[in-house]
Amino acid sequence: MSETAALVLFSGGQDSTVCLAWALAHYRRVETIGFKYGQRHAVELAQRQIVREKMTALGDNGKRLGPDTVLDLPALQSISDTALTRETEITFAATGLPTTFVPGRNLLFLTYAAALAYRRGITTLVGGMCETDFSGYPDCRNETIQTLAQAISLGLAEPIVIETPLMFIDKAGTWEMADKLGGDELVKIIIEDTHTCYMGDRTNRHDWGYGCGICPACELRAKGWHEWRART
Ligand code: ZN
Repeated sequence: MSETAALVLFSGGQDSTVCLAWALAHYRRVETIGFKYGQRHAVELAQRQIVREKMTALGDNGKRLGPDTVLDLPALQSISDTALTRETEITFAATGLPTTFVPGRNLLFLTYAAALAYRRGITTLVGGMCETDFSGYPDCRNETIQTLAQAISLGLAEPIVIETPLMFIDKAGTWEMADKLGGDELVKIIIEDTHTCYMGDRTNRHDWGYGCGICPACELRAKGWHEWRART
């Protein structure tokens, strides 16, 4: 247990919920930050409040959960809406990336998070970036994140640490980590309340939670679940 505090980039999805549980197990004071930047994420924003409330009820660790900040970033919405040409849209669809994907989005999120952390006296950021499953997102790579941590530290004249507990594990490993950190209770929160589906679907319930079941995010989540279940 560290004496220091951490700011978790928390979207209300599976990965950031596991990161939040990880931070609650490692730091005395934990705050969360979220970003509002598009309609599709409205479901995520609603779920993140529900997940936060349930996390506070998770034993002693839950009691460490401090304030939440949601930053409105309409500029990202403009990039998603207007900077996408027809040709790029087709390319995005072929790679399985959502057409709302904003290049370098994690760099922006982490930079905003660092600015808030600085004001809150926090020097550790925690994010759910993972290079194992998301090879399509170059801003999820460990080298990208750690180089950014250096740039931010220089820019703030303050050593900022970016922790990414999921960086080198796959989705089955993420379920396993949730089970280790919070047992059945945490796994249940992830199934029932976290949101991952790109289509914003919360009507279809599967073993692994809610979602359309066919978008890349659902596929990945389902695949991880089945691999984890097969192992245990
Ligand atoms: Zn889906």
